[in-house]
Amino acid sequence: MHKYIIMGAQGCGKGTQAELLVEAFDLVHISVGDIFRWHISNRTKLGARVRRAVKDGELVPDETVEEIVRRRLEEHDWNYGFVLDGFPRNRPQAEFFLESYDADAVINIEVPADVVLRRLLSRRLCSQCGLDYNLIYHRPVNAGVCDVCGGELIQRADDTEKAIHARLTDFYEKTRPILDLFREKRLMIDVDGTQPQDVVHAAIRQQLEEPRRSGVDN
Ligand code: AMP
Repeated sequence: MHKYIIMGAQGCGKGTQAELLVEAFDLVHISVGDIFRWHISNRTKLGARVRRAVKDGELVPDETVEEIVRRRLEEHDWNYGFVLDGFPRNRPQAEFFLESYDADAVINIEVPADVVLRRLLSRRLCSQCGLDYNLIYHRPVNAGVCDVCGGELIQRADDTEKAIHARLTDFYEKTRPILDLFREKRLMIDVDGTQPQDVVHAAIRQQLEEPRRSGVDN
């Protein structure tokens, strides 16, 4: 069983690294942000409740987030484990998690603030197939058009300067401090997220396999 939490500032490459771990270990990727976006685009009751906070880049209330995580983990469709992405984001959420569940590792992807800001402003995604692009590192062959399906490339609704600023402020003020909580429990893996994707993935795998990690209690 592999139970991982992946953390880092928005734009650090969490989603990409989560997907690579999912492929490597046959895990389930649980992205709280994706769950919210699904509810918003399918106009559910929950979607209506969280729409404004998500659009403005503000944190959704803890009780709502914890309920979503609890329900998702109770589905038990994760035979080999999961990668939790976007949760926890503050101390109460971290305490909720540690009281009810356990993790084998917390992966922290470090990227300096100016780099994540640049990445977020240049981030685009395909409106049809959802593929990620970046106008600096991963440009489409034809501007504004998905290489794979021809769909229109759009910005995420919360990738505006104002919402990005709100999300990064929350990250440095509320999320970053909880890394110490996991560090005390010797669950932390730190990687340099400015390196190419495959190098970051290899660094994560190497640290996950280090023998000192086996037998670490939680
Ligand atoms: P993400 O895709 O992880 O950047 O999340 C998108 C948005 O969903 C965030 O800006 C928040 O509005 C909301 N959200 C996602 N995860 C959480 C969380 N753990 N706590 C509160 N709000 C969250």
